[in-house]
Amino acid sequence: MFKRAFLSAAFAIAVVATPVSVAQASTESGPITAAAVTVYYDTSSAPTFRSVIRAGAANWNARVSNVKLVENSSAATLRYREGNDSRGSYASSNGHGTGTVFIDYTQARQYNSTRIAAHETGHVLGLPDHYSGPCSELMSGGGPGTSCTNASPNATEAARVNSLWANGLASTSSEWKITVYPTAVPVG
Ligand SMILES: [Zn+2]
Repeated sequence: MFKRAFLSAAFAIAVVATPVSVAQASTESGPITAAAVTVYYDTSSAPTFRSVIRAGAANWNARVSNVKLVENSSAATLRYREGNDSRGSYASSNGHGTGTVFIDYTQARQYNSTRIAAHETGHVLGLPDHYSGPCSELMSGGGPGTSCTNASPNATEAARVNSLWANGLASTSSEWKITVYPTAVPVG
Protein backbone atom coordinates (compact mmCIF):
# COMPACT_ATOMS: atom_id res chain seq x y z
CA MET A 1 0.00 0.00 0.00
CA PHE A 2 1.02 3.57 -0.34
CA LYS A 3 0.05 5.40 2.81
CA ARG A 4 1.52 7.59 5.49
CA ALA A 5 3.53 6.06 8.26
CA PHE A 6 0.96 6.44 10.99
CA LEU A 7 -1.45 4.20 9.16
CA SER A 8 0.99 1.37 9.86
CA ALA A 9 1.81 -1.78 8.01
CA ALA A 10 -0.09 -3.68 10.67
CA PHE A 11 -3.01 -3.80 8.29
CA ALA A 12 -1.05 -6.08 6.02
CA ILE A 13 -2.68 -9.44 6.26
CA ALA A 14 -1.74 -12.80 4.93
CA VAL A 15 -4.81 -13.96 3.09
CA VAL A 16 -4.11 -17.27 1.54
CA ALA A 17 -1.21 -19.51 0.77
CA THR A 18 -0.73 -20.41 -2.84
CA PRO A 19 1.94 -22.06 -4.92
CA VAL A 20 3.85 -19.74 -7.14
CA SER A 21 2.93 -19.95 -10.79
CA VAL A 22 5.27 -17.57 -12.52
CA ALA A 23 6.24 -18.67 -15.98
CA GLN A 24 9.58 -20.39 -15.92
CA ALA A 25 11.49 -21.27 -19.02
CA SER A 26 13.52 -24.19 -17.80
CA THR A 27 12.49 -27.35 -16.00
CA GLU A 28 15.95 -28.83 -15.96
CA SER A 29 17.33 -30.07 -12.69
CA GLY A 30 20.81 -29.32 -11.53
CA PRO A 31 22.65 -26.29 -10.23
CA ILE A 32 20.78 -22.99 -10.25
CA THR A 33 22.29 -20.58 -12.68
CA ALA A 34 22.77 -16.88 -12.20
CA ALA A 35 20.41 -16.04 -15.04
CA ALA A 36 17.76 -13.50 -14.15
CA VAL A 37 14.18 -14.62 -13.69
CA THR A 38 11.70 -12.81 -15.90
CA VAL A 39 8.43 -11.61 -14.43
CA TYR A 40 5.90 -10.75 -17.10
CA TYR A 41 3.39 -8.00 -16.46
CA ASP A 42 0.19 -6.75 -18.03
CA THR A 43 -0.95 -3.12 -18.19
CA SER A 44 -4.12 -3.64 -20.23
CA SER A 45 -6.36 -2.95 -17.22
CA ALA A 46 -4.44 0.16 -16.22
CA PRO A 47 -4.29 2.16 -19.47
CA THR A 48 -4.12 5.54 -17.70
CA PHE A 49 -0.92 4.53 -15.96
CA ARG A 50 0.73 2.48 -18.68
CA SER A 51 3.63 4.87 -19.11
CA VAL A 52 4.32 5.29 -15.41
CA ILE A 53 4.11 1.53 -14.84
CA ARG A 54 6.68 1.04 -17.58
CA ALA A 55 8.86 3.76 -16.09
CA GLY A 56 8.68 2.16 -12.67
CA ALA A 57 9.55 -1.25 -14.09
CA ALA A 58 12.48 0.29 -15.97
CA ASN A 59 13.74 1.82 -12.72
CA TRP A 60 13.75 -1.61 -11.12
CA ASN A 61 15.37 -3.25 -14.14
CA ALA A 62 18.13 -0.65 -14.06
CA ARG A 63 19.05 -1.53 -10.49
CA VAL A 64 18.50 -5.24 -9.99
CA SER A 65 20.08 -8.13 -11.84
CA ASN A 66 18.38 -11.29 -10.55
CA VAL A 67 14.88 -10.47 -11.73
CA LYS A 68 13.67 -8.67 -14.82
CA LEU A 69 10.27 -7.11 -15.46
CA VAL A 70 8.99 -7.51 -19.01
CA GLU A 71 5.61 -6.43 -20.39
CA ASN A 72 3.78 -9.37 -21.95
CA SER A 73 0.05 -9.63 -21.37
CA SER A 74 -0.34 -13.24 -22.50
CA ALA A 75 2.38 -14.52 -20.16
CA ALA A 76 1.69 -12.14 -17.28
CA THR A 77 1.66 -13.20 -13.65
CA LEU A 78 1.64 -9.56 -12.51
CA ARG A 79 -1.36 -7.51 -13.51
CA TYR A 80 -1.90 -3.80 -12.98
CA ARG A 81 -5.36 -2.35 -12.49
CA GLU A 82 -6.71 1.16 -11.96
CA GLY A 83 -9.80 2.68 -10.40
CA ASN A 84 -11.21 4.33 -7.31
CA ASP A 85 -10.70 2.68 -3.95
CA SER A 86 -10.94 4.37 -0.56
CA ARG A 87 -8.04 2.24 0.59
CA GLY A 88 -5.81 3.88 -1.99
CA SER A 89 -3.28 2.03 -4.08
CA TYR A 90 -2.24 -1.43 -3.03
CA ALA A 91 -0.52 -4.62 -4.02
CA SER A 92 -1.88 -8.11 -3.54
CA SER A 93 1.01 -10.42 -4.18
CA ASN A 94 3.00 -13.43 -3.12
CA GLY A 95 6.05 -11.16 -3.09
CA HIS A 96 7.66 -13.29 -5.75
CA GLY A 97 6.31 -12.11 -9.05
CA THR A 98 2.67 -13.08 -8.89
CA GLY A 99 -0.15 -10.73 -8.02
CA THR A 100 -2.13 -7.61 -8.71
CA VAL A 101 -1.20 -3.97 -8.32
CA PHE A 102 -4.07 -1.51 -8.01
CA ILE A 103 -3.46 2.19 -8.64
CA ASP A 104 -6.02 4.56 -7.17
CA TYR A 105 -6.97 7.65 -9.19
CA THR A 106 -7.27 9.97 -6.22
CA GLN A 107 -3.96 8.97 -4.76
CA ALA A 108 -2.24 9.23 -8.13
CA ARG A 109 -3.33 12.88 -8.29
CA GLN A 110 -1.89 13.59 -4.87
CA TYR A 111 1.36 11.65 -5.09
CA ASN A 112 3.84 11.06 -7.88
CA SER A 113 2.25 8.30 -9.93
CA THR A 114 5.52 6.74 -11.10
CA ARG A 115 6.59 6.47 -7.47
CA ILE A 116 3.29 4.78 -6.64
CA ALA A 117 3.69 2.27 -9.46
CA ALA A 118 7.32 1.51 -8.61
CA HIS A 119 6.50 1.24 -4.91
CA GLU A 120 3.69 -1.25 -5.44
CA THR A 121 5.90 -3.20 -7.83
CA GLY A 122 8.41 -3.37 -4.98
CA HIS A 123 5.87 -5.37 -2.99
CA VAL A 124 5.54 -7.83 -5.85
CA LEU A 125 9.33 -8.20 -5.80
CA GLY A 126 9.22 -8.98 -2.09
CA LEU A 127 9.71 -5.75 -0.17
CA PRO A 128 7.49 -4.64 2.74
CA ASP A 129 6.36 -1.08 3.52
CA HIS A 130 8.69 1.15 5.51
CA TYR A 131 6.83 4.45 5.84
CA SER A 132 9.31 6.01 8.24
CA GLY A 133 12.05 5.99 5.61
CA PRO A 134 13.24 9.01 3.59
CA CYS A 135 12.14 10.00 0.09
CA SER A 136 15.22 8.28 -1.32
CA GLU A 137 13.73 5.02 -0.14
CA LEU A 138 11.03 3.72 -2.48
CA MET A 139 9.23 1.60 0.08
CA SER A 140 8.66 4.61 2.33
CA GLY A 141 5.70 5.19 -0.01
CA GLY A 142 3.60 8.15 1.03
CA GLY A 143 5.54 8.58 4.27
CA PRO A 144 7.74 11.45 3.06
CA GLY A 145 4.69 13.30 1.74
CA THR A 146 3.30 14.36 -1.60
CA SER A 147 6.39 16.36 -2.59
CA CYS A 148 8.49 13.20 -2.85
CA THR A 149 8.90 12.21 -6.49
CA ASN A 150 11.65 9.60 -6.24
CA ALA A 151 10.54 6.51 -8.15
CA SER A 152 13.67 4.37 -7.87
CA PRO A 153 14.77 1.92 -5.19
CA ASN A 154 17.88 2.85 -3.22
CA ALA A 155 20.94 0.59 -3.08
CA THR A 156 19.72 -1.22 0.03
CA GLU A 157 16.34 -1.99 -1.53
CA ALA A 158 17.93 -3.19 -4.77
CA ALA A 159 20.32 -5.43 -2.84
CA ARG A 160 17.42 -6.88 -0.86
CA VAL A 161 15.51 -7.73 -4.04
CA ASN A 162 18.59 -9.27 -5.62
CA SER A 163 18.98 -11.41 -2.54
CA LEU A 164 15.33 -12.49 -2.58
CA TRP A 165 15.68 -13.54 -6.22
CA ALA A 166 19.15 -15.05 -6.01
CA ASN A 167 17.69 -18.54 -6.36
CA GLY A 168 15.21 -17.62 -9.04
CA LEU A 169 11.87 -19.27 -8.50
CA ALA A 170 13.36 -22.43 -7.04
CA SER A 171 13.40 -23.92 -3.55
CA THR A 172 11.23 -21.83 -1.27
CA SER A 173 8.75 -20.70 -3.90
CA SER A 174 5.93 -22.85 -2.50
CA GLU A 175 6.29 -21.04 0.81
CA TRP A 176 5.39 -17.65 -0.58
CA LYS A 177 2.03 -16.38 0.59
CA ILE A 178 -0.29 -13.83 -0.90
CA THR A 179 -0.15 -10.66 1.16
CA VAL A 180 -2.29 -7.58 0.69
CA TYR A 181 -1.02 -4.12 1.54
CA PRO A 182 -4.20 -2.02 1.85
CA THR A 183 -5.44 0.05 4.73
CA ALA A 184 -8.86 0.26 6.26
CA VAL A 185 -8.43 3.99 6.79
CA PRO A 186 -8.96 6.49 3.96
CA VAL A 187 -6.26 9.05 3.27
CA GLY A 188 -6.82 11.82 5.77
ZN1 LIG B 1 3.18 -0.23 0.13
